[in-house]
Amino acid sequence: MSTDTLPNPGKSPEKPAGELIRLEQVTKRFGDNTVLDHLDFSVAAGKHVTLIGPSGSGKTTILRLLMTLLKPDEGTITVDGQQLFPANEKQRREVRKQIGMVFQQFNLFPNMTVLRNITEAPVTVLGLSKDEAVERAKELLDMVGLADKCDAHPAQLSGGQQQRVAIARALAMRPKVLLLDEVTSALDPELVAGVLDLLRDIARSTDITMLCVTHEMNFARDISDQVLMFDSGRVIEAGAPEKIFSEPEHDRTREFLSAVL
Ligand code: ADP
Repeated sequence: MSTDTLPNPGKSPEKPAGELIRLEQVTKRFGDNTVLDHLDFSVAAGKHVTLIGPSGSGKTTILRLLMTLLKPDEGTITVDGQQLFPANEKQRREVRKQIGMVFQQFNLFPNMTVLRNITEAPVTVLGLSKDEAVERAKELLDMVGLADKCDAHPAQLSGGQQQRVAIARALAMRPKVLLLDEVTSALDPELVAGVLDLLRDIARSTDITMLCVTHEMNFARDISDQVLMFDSGRVIEAGAPEKIFSEPEHDRTREFLSAVL
């Protein structure tokens, strides 16, 4: 049976206090490649969790599952006590409103102005009035240092500026969860620090829950409450950044860190 046809499961009675994201026994396969194999993990509300590990270990797949860009083959994904999988489309859309994502390649709408990129979803998905959405977008553009770029189109901006717009666009939905997928990988080196500083400010000044995939280990060390080391679709080590980066227990973690640090 397709997960879409399951009855609406509603609120989970077992949500532990303060837990915002929960994956239980999540399996994801692409053909005969099992990328996630009965994965369990949870993220507490307001925490910043970073996923590290070798390329191909399944980190981005987790973010894409949370964004509902992919569906798990097995398992349960819950956000703030509401099931995202399995769930019907209507419920999934509701849960999905609480999640914002910033992508490696920015993914802005190229034919829309910067302002419209940010106001589009708040108007069409949240039902904000155009004036409210514009006011919210202008505040965010001010915060990301692009107040003067309202009428520009993405192609007229640098990669760093486009990524700032993408961050503002995600925040305009006032999500409880912000997913960050290698957000500086496509940037010229001189633009990386500015975007990371902006994200550090957001991490410090909001109570938004963050789940990041990054190869920027200094950034991961700065902003994370917890670091999860992935290998072949499994969490092989988890802990505070000081612990993972200074005293890793697992050989694979040591090897990975010595290759990237
Ligand atoms: P990571 O983010 O850790 O680099 P990914 O989650 O992107 O890893 O990928 C994990 C594995 O899943 C890789 O083997 C990748 O080739 C495979 N994969 C990811 N997306 C797809 C897809 N859409 N179709 C087929 N295979 C995929």
